[in-house]
Amino acid sequence: MKVGLVTYSPEKVEGFDQHVFYAKWADGSLFPAAEEMQNDVTCFCDAKAIREKPDLVAISKSGPALRKNRKLNIPFDFVCPTNEAYRNRVLSFIEELGRNKIQGVTLNLYHFPEEEFCVCPRCVELWRESGQNWTVWKTQTITDFIGEAKKRVKNEFAVEIWPDPFLAKERFGIDFEKIAEYIDYFHVPLSAIDYTTMYWVDMLTRDFIKILKKPVVVELSAEMPNDKKTEALLKTMAYLSRHDLKSILLLVHNSENARQICRFAVRNQELRCWFDKHGFKEMSRIIENWAKSY
Ligand SMILES: [Zn+2]
Repeated sequence: MKVGLVTYSPEKVEGFDQHVFYAKWADGSLFPAAEEMQNDVTCFCDAKAIREKPDLVAISKSGPALRKNRKLNIPFDFVCPTNEAYRNRVLSFIEELGRNKIQGVTLNLYHFPEEEFCVCPRCVELWRESGQNWTVWKTQTITDFIGEAKKRVKNEFAVEIWPDPFLAKERFGIDFEKIAEYIDYFHVPLSAIDYTTMYWVDMLTRDFIKILKKPVVVELSAEMPNDKKTEALLKTMAYLSRHDLKSILLLVHNSENARQICRFAVRNQELRCWFDKHGFKEMSRIIENWAKSY
């Protein structure tokens, strides 16, 4: 099992074997490709594009897919996935990334915002023309987009998934089985303020490993402000390391944040003994490796 970072700065950190860099953000910011890293592209969430052109937004009977629409619980501002001009912009960006020496591309938020989306006149027309039921049409639309993106990625290709193992088709148009044919692995963010309560992380990891037909990578939030929370994060990593994961990724805001976690683990003898005593071999190996640099 590898251990890696998800970061906002294209800087490699010692002790981590994989780096995921956010090349396109949900606020619309774009960054140059990060070489030898996995470049993560937020596809249909783009607050800037919607501010500039409000008719890009995905629509439901309860209104637009905007954070400020309190009738819905939408964490980002979503563009309608069938807007061809916007879709082509995202595909061109992916193609451009591929001209650099990157490790690969991960797609993020490449789907419909929720079950009741999108009922803009174009989507309704496309759905009617398709002759398919609503969910089948939605999943076909998203699978086609992933197929188009895949044509533009020469190396490692992955998708992030919203951590809902049960309703992904109905809500987002995500068909895990179909997507698995295109990608090398699934990247599942299990984000939290802290992991002092963590049974759900273990549960969702089990579920996804069982149902997904490709290797699974789990991402944990690692911007931990105190020792208690850092220790809870490390214990959560330890439990996850007993599953058959391709890697665990830590979301950090900067490299120093990542180094702090390594230093905390290396110096915490009591915790290292606890991992040894309870047979967390993989976690002990990761910390021994960190101890070479920290
Ligand atoms: Zn639409």
